[in-house]
Amino acid sequence: MNGGEADRGDNENAATRAISDEKSICPFCGVGCGVQYSEERGNAVGWRAPVNRRGELCPKGVAAYDVVDHEDRLTRPLVRGKDGELVEASWGEALNRIESSFRRISENHGADALSFFASSGCTNEENYSLQKLARALGTNNVDNCARLCHSSTVAAMGDRFGTGAMTNTIADLPEADAFLVAGANPAEQHPIIFSSYVAPAVEQGATLIHVDPRENATTKHADHHLALRPGYDIPLLNAMCKVLAEEGLVDTEFVEARVEGFEEFEDWLSGIDVAEGAAKADVPEEDLRAAARAYGEADRAAAFTGMGMSQHRCGTANVHALLNLALLGGNVGKRGAGVNPLRGKNNVQGAGDVGALPDVLPGYQAVTDSEARQEIADEWGFEPPAEPGLTEVEMTHEFGDGIRGAYVVGENIAATEPNANRVADELDDLDMLVVQEVFPTETVEHADVVLPASSWAEKAGTVTNTDRQVQRMRPTADPPGEARRDLEIIREIGDRLTDAGDFEESTPEAVFAEMTRVNPLYAGMSYEGIGEESQRWPFPEGADSGVEILHRETFGDGSKRATLEPVEGVDPADEVGEDDLVLTTGRLLSHFNSGAVTRRSGILTRLRSEDAIQLHPEDAAERGVGDGETVVVENERGRVEATADVTPAVRAGTAFLTFHFAEPLVNRLTGDALDPVAKIPEYKHSAVSVRVSEIENSDGER
Ligand code: SF4
Repeated sequence: MNGGEADRGDNENAATRAISDEKSICPFCGVGCGVQYSEERGNAVGWRAPVNRRGELCPKGVAAYDVVDHEDRLTRPLVRGKDGELVEASWGEALNRIESSFRRISENHGADALSFFASSGCTNEENYSLQKLARALGTNNVDNCARLCHSSTVAAMGDRFGTGAMTNTIADLPEADAFLVAGANPAEQHPIIFSSYVAPAVEQGATLIHVDPRENATTKHADHHLALRPGYDIPLLNAMCKVLAEEGLVDTEFVEARVEGFEEFEDWLSGIDVAEGAAKADVPEEDLRAAARAYGEADRAAAFTGMGMSQHRCGTANVHALLNLALLGGNVGKRGAGVNPLRGKNNVQGAGDVGALPDVLPGYQAVTDSEARQEIADEWGFEPPAEPGLTEVEMTHEFGDGIRGAYVVGENIAATEPNANRVADELDDLDMLVVQEVFPTETVEHADVVLPASSWAEKAGTVTNTDRQVQRMRPTADPPGEARRDLEIIREIGDRLTDAGDFEESTPEAVFAEMTRVNPLYAGMSYEGIGEESQRWPFPEGADSGVEILHRETFGDGSKRATLEPVEGVDPADEVGEDDLVLTTGRLLSHFNSGAVTRRSGILTRLRSEDAIQLHPEDAAERGVGDGETVVVENERGRVEATADVTPAVRAGTAFLTFHFAEPLVNRLTGDALDPVAKIPEYKHSAVSVRVSEIENSDGER
């Protein structure tokens, strides 16, 4: 997997606008590989950055510069005209509309009638500025799409370990003797972590345990595959804990030194039956026992956790169950171990770190903490509101009622929120929807004002990758037409809507310096100090470098011990009828998230199988579905049509669709039942009916 293999090398895609070869960071996944433009190749090559030390890139990274000159780019502001169509407008007119509308909404309905959607595809400085704008206007209604992918992981790890992030570094993970990959497919979703760090360790003898209802590119490297029933991670993980206890595989030295509540947990565990847990998860008991043994016998076992675990209405509880296993195995606070959430977009970690969340300020300081609010007020000159705001899905459900205005920066919420038909209606209920975007996405179709923004390749700033490294992006081109850089746009709106002076610091360097003064995690960092390398949080003031392995001596809250906590299973929200299948969703190697960028890539051409629904042969036969036929997938929330990919890779009773495409838009089918703690929706378990489409397949024979 490198630039040379994946690139066409024919310069067919060479940009028509000047692109410099400044070193920057890949805009796609949270691995954070270094990319730079190669005129010879007409797209990206890797440079020896902190993560991709050999300059390797996956196909997505290679295609990164396709966005720069794409003909679909938004290049002028648009406003909704009298006839309901979006028409071109000047920046002055677009900004005047936003200013007057937001002022009117705030005066008539209060500041909490406004909402702000930040983006994990934007820089730390942009996200920081947007959350500051929301708070300057008097609301904590600000969130970002991390809510939809790993908020449950952050909640559970924050609660138990005091920090919601990878406990280890990508670089030390090859020292693991065993990898437990739960609900993730890093071979396709975080390719360079997998190909450069995990796969070589597995080739050298480390054991790979893959917990996933589907066989995918990661499973091909696995020694153990537990193809569980979606939604039943808790009984599976509890049963694995029981195997460790039964077979003398608990790390008693670690438990004595670092764990609280072992005896109570052991008592509770005595009521767990391994066979019953395996039956609930629908995996063979012997396979579960073998996987647990492999994890428990390893000196160093590293767990990866992904959206297969987090995107359930029991997502927080799922991660709690995984943390119990890690504590029993003594796999915390040492190299080649830990619990390691694989974060989605390139700045999903950073968007949360800098406070683009409704309940916390920069550095995860609770908005309810008066001391933290006062410290921020000393820097900002105003105090942020004390009541937590609404989360992403909650905000969309308030559109037209409690919320009348929304400012969406770089998120395609019409495609990415669950229950998309409902969201489409809700978007139209707003008095003012502002969308700051690069392409005409599904969300832009609902906007009242569209602000043409800069792509990743046109902006400077910092992003924080999945193992807590803050790196610098550098602009390699100017925004096209009248498009502007996101930070400038947010600053101008801030200037218009708030008291003079709140947003006068507008350069990425100045905003970064301000962030280090209000975010304890970033306290010792400097823009210049990052240079071409990275600085990792926590980075205490006065330290030479950031902390690599978390929790070596103490946990994030300063305590020496973390507590073992019994976790009870929670059934998924959708009841599955006798004729239904359980639909689960995921990413593919060639595309990313809602596909706003990758769908338009010249290199990442769409293959037939990419928009196909995977069906097990038994399920297909029961429904009379042939491979390649068009099927209708439906439930009470919506309906899509997709091509059947009949394959034993997916477990019987389960179907799989990606979430990259506007058609089929899988989120028409997903539900908005929320995890009670993290408010993450249950994307990974939707009951659906599947039948042959009589219209699409009519060929005279049917
Ligand atoms: Fe970009 Fe992630 Fe691929 Fe690296 S692994 S090139 S960061 S998409």
